[in-house]
Order: sequence, then C-alpha cells, then structure tokens
Amino acid sequence: MLNEKLALHTPGPTPIPPQVAAAMARPMINHRGEAFSAIYRDVAEKLQPIFQTREQIYVIPGSGSSGWETAMVNFVPVGARVLNIVIGDFGERWVKANKALGFEVARLDYAAGSSANPADVAALLGKEQGTIKAVCLQQNETSTGVFNPVREIAAEAAKHGALVIVDAISSLGAFPFAMDEWGVDIVFTGSQKALMCPPGLMLIAASQRAWKAAEQIRNPRFYLDLHAYRQGFERAQTPYTPALSLYYGLQAALEMLHEEGLANVQERHYLMGKMCREAIKTTGLELLRQDEQFASPTVTAVKFTQGIAARTFRSTASKVFGVVLAGGQGALKETIFRIGHMGYITPNDVLVALASVENTLAYLGYPVETGKAVGAAQAVWLEHVRQER
Ligand SMILES: *Cc1c(COP(=O)(O)O)cnc(C)c1O
Repeated sequence: MLNEKLALHTPGPTPIPPQVAAAMARPMINHRGEAFSAIYRDVAEKLQPIFQTREQIYVIPGSGSSGWETAMVNFVPVGARVLNIVIGDFGERWVKANKALGFEVARLDYAAGSSANPADVAALLGKEQGTIKAVCLQQNETSTGVFNPVREIAAEAAKHGALVIVDAISSLGAFPFAMDEWGVDIVFTGSQKALMCPPGLMLIAASQRAWKAAEQIRNPRFYLDLHAYRQGFERAQTPYTPALSLYYGLQAALEMLHEEGLANVQERHYLMGKMCREAIKTTGLELLRQDEQFASPTVTAVKFTQGIAARTFRSTASKVFGVVLAGGQGALKETIFRIGHMGYITPNDVLVALASVENTLAYLGYPVETGKAVGAAQAVWLEHVRQER
C-alpha cells in the first residue's frame, strides 16, 4: 500500500486541501505590519457568515479544548453553578474542565446515541430557580455522532437568564448554525475539523449579552483573556504573536468554503452522513444513533458485532485497506468505530471509506456481501444529484 495515500477518516484532524498546505508554506511576515492586518481583517470577515453573527470572532492559538477554558474564564464567574449537558465523551471532558476551573457543575446526562431534550433542560432550569449561570453543550457530540437541538435549548436557557455556551468544534462550517438568531452567547470551534486546517487554532465569538456579563467578572486569567483580543481588533492586531502559518492556511480554507458556497458545504456534509448510514444498514452492523433525527452529518458511529475486536478492525482497515477510521472514546472505546466525513472530504472519499469497512469485515470473517454497502451509498448520492437537477 502506498502509505502516503492512506485515506484519513478520523473526525479530526481531517485532511487538508493542497491550497491550505501551500498557503502555509509562505514566508513569515512582520505580524505588526499592514500585511498581517489585511489577513486578519479578511479572515474575520469570512468567518462571520459561518458563525452567522455580526459579532467579532477571535482566533487564538490552541486546540479546540482551549475554547472551554476561554469561554468559562471570560464570561462566567469562577465558583458559579453551571449546567453541563452530557451526551458523550466530549461533554464529559467539558465537565472535567469546568470542575478543574472551579465551577460548580450540575449535569444532565443522556445515554450514548441520544441527543438532549430541551424539555429536560427547561425542567431542570425551572427547578434550579435562577442558580444556573451558564448552560454548556456540544452542538455535535463527536464521540457518538449525534447532534443537539441547540436553538431550542438556547431558548430555554435565555428564559432562565443563563448564558448558552456551545462547543461547535466538530460542526461549525458543516452544519447550519445561527449564533445571533438562535441567541447563542458564546460559540467556539477548532481549526482541524470542518474548517479543513491543521490543528492549532481555536475560534470564538461572544454575544453582546455575554460581553455585558463579562464586565462584572474578575476571574484570574491572562493568555486567554478575550478583552485583550477585543481591544486589538480595531487595529487588526492580536495581543500576542499570531500563529502566522495557520492564519495563512485558515484564510485559504475560508476562501475555498466561500467559493463552494456555505449552503453547498452543508449539503455535502448532510449527503455524506446519509450515504454512510444507508451503507452501514446493509451490513447488519448497528448504527449507534438509530434514527435519522439528530444523526450527525460529520461523523458516523457504528457498533461492533460480536467476535470482531475494535483494535484488529481498525488496524486491518488501515494497514491492509488503506483507510484510517477512528475508535470509540471513553466508555465506548472498544464497542464502536467511527467514520469521520467532515472538512476536505467528498462523497467519493466516503465510497472509499465504506469499501474498506466492507473489505475489513469480510477479511475478518464477518458474513458481509462486499459491494452492497458501497452500492447503497452510491444510490443515495445518485438520488441526491437527480433531485437537484
Ligand atoms: C475535537 C473536539 C474537541 C477537542 O478538541 P481538541 O482540538 O482535541 O482540543 C472538543 N469538543 C468536540 C465536540 C470535538 O469534536
């Protein structure tokens, strides 16, 4: 197998386009000069339609997880009671972060494969009678391939005067998301998922309401103090040295997303999710999320069948059939595998991933008729294109 051609189907990092790789090879510039300010302004402008906001979006060096900390230390007073909605491992990790940062955590837990129910959020907030200062949730839970009804949950939080903080790391760009219209207070993402860049940047925006709340907050913080980023914005300057190469890459990636058209990008992701789900159904394996509602357009989680070990499955898919799949996280580590289909991925790439799933199953002795899953995915794609005509 030509190792360079391994097809990467992890739900982050995701493959990067050659245009992004080429942009990142450009020479360093003076980050205090006009050349950087021009890039800064261009990136800021291109991000707003993705977040669907008129607020400023700040780009900070750090992986996605730095979004949890940045959101919390800037907008919620340490010691406050917050609600974490947990539908999977990333929800669990945010709980850990909030506890480490000194917040008092109330939780709303759902079984793996479920999405949060806005009525439960409403009931809990009602019972708490205004003690909850912020509601924290993922738009898309990458560990289970399920997304949450953010808009409805945001509406409930607003009724109870709580800020809504959304981790949209594996969704922003690939999903519809309307920060202003939905009343989301803080939202953040990472560069290495749907935004087609390498890991290393966290992008975050906050509402007027959140900024107003921030005025009263005196939490200790320094590098992640968003006020410093906000003050520099008028001059199109960052408080500290920006990750220049990643900025070049992000600018190139955003250009590509806008050229494709944001609605088309979302539609492509929806299609790829549907292709995966219809394909898996033909294999006899079970999807972790059984019905279509809230099934993720960016990652699909599949339960293992008895007799196939998670590790053997993934190493065979990669070493023998050239496709890198993801395992499960946390409690699901040995019980599921995941197919990432976000960012610089096309329906053709999805066919390749599905072919390797079939081949791997057959090779390991699972009774599967190869070609059936790929055929089902092809049919979904063909039908999709016909409907567009
Ligand atoms: C990937 C991911 C994270 C963590 O991002 P890192 O870049 O690994 O720090 C957090 N939340 C969600 C939903 C993710 O998909």
